[in-house]
Amino acid sequence: MEKWPIGVFASIDAGLGVQLDVAHELQVPTIQLHAPSRAQRTEEAARAFLDRVGQLGIRITAVFGGFEGESYADIPTVARTVGLVPPETRAARTQEMLEIADFARLLGVDVVALHLGFIAHDDPEYANVVEVTRRVCDHCGQNDQALHLETGQETADALLQFIADVQRDNLFVNFDPANMILYGSGEPIPALKKVGRYVRSVHCKDAKWADRPGQEWGTEVPLGQGDVDIGQYLKTLHELGYEGPLTIEREIPQEPERQKAEIAQAIGVLNEWKAKILA
Ligand code: MG
Repeated sequence: MEKWPIGVFASIDAGLGVQLDVAHELQVPTIQLHAPSRAQRTEEAARAFLDRVGQLGIRITAVFGGFEGESYADIPTVARTVGLVPPETRAARTQEMLEIADFARLLGVDVVALHLGFIAHDDPEYANVVEVTRRVCDHCGQNDQALHLETGQETADALLQFIADVQRDNLFVNFDPANMILYGSGEPIPALKKVGRYVRSVHCKDAKWADRPGQEWGTEVPLGQGDVDIGQYLKTLHELGYEGPLTIEREIPQEPERQKAEIAQAIGVLNEWKAKILA
């Protein structure tokens, strides 16, 4: 398989990411799929979607879980609403995550991923979050799947500690360098080096630091125009021996034309660096 195939974050219906047509128009060979709503997670829907991506020559490299009621409005809202951390929705979302893993299996996809939420070690709920993560890992294991945790909401050290506490050999990392900046959770390149042995998928996304990192959002910007240092990011992935897809994520669904143009530009940036680094 080609090293570092370009990818894009995509969706079927309501989820985040671009529509499949956009991926096709931009001739992107791989996608990470944001899990569709429950009504769309049927065998027929999976078969129809697989037919469609097959015709377009697109491979699905991961299925991302997401849940109703999640909001990325600001950092405290993320902590309150995202992933398996909020206690009041944890049981139902854990169950839904198992269903999403089963849907991914119908699609023949062996990577399931999610934003777990803010993993706070001093939180009395920490042990319970470890427990449900084990449950999701074990279910994924039965499906011959790995579970990838999206980075950014915690420091690299906190993530390493969490992975060690879960004690499952199919738990890995989807590294997002821009999230480290957006959430103010650490310099992305040193963080990547720290968690590198667990990195099995990545997002290519860029951002600028906030004036008060961790208290307010940084700003997501087009790839190559932020503080990530994309060249250094790719060189580091190369040194780590990462060969998987480079999945572009650009979340400005309210501006589809600009989103498409910026993804096209991001493909250009990645291809330029690929040519330099892999030459
Ligand atoms: Mg991401």
